[in-house]
Amino acid sequence: MRCPYMERCQSPKEQGTGPVYQRRFCLQDCTGCARFRLAGSWPVEEIPLWLRPTMMVHADWLLEQWHKGARKIPASMPKMIPLVLV
Ligand code: SF4
Repeated sequence: MRCPYMERCQSPKEQGTGPVYQRRFCLQDCTGCARFRLAGSWPVEEIPLWLRPTMMVHADWLLEQWHKGARKIPASMPKMIPLVLV
């Protein structure tokens, strides 16, 4: 499925990696994109570029924070993200 956020998202426009992400996610499989996953909770324009389409673990952690009341994504990648393995 082609991503409905392509015009608004920064990632596919990025020099270098943008075309790679477009081929892998934006034009074919947006449901596998970490940024797409967050776009239901945050406006896609507010998702910073450090959150790459491949960063699903980070996306899940951010969504968990959203459900706890966080409404702002850190401007830079958090140094430590607790990961609970079950
Ligand atoms: S990077 Fe993800 S959210 Fe952004 S346009 Fe591509 S598929 Fe959509």
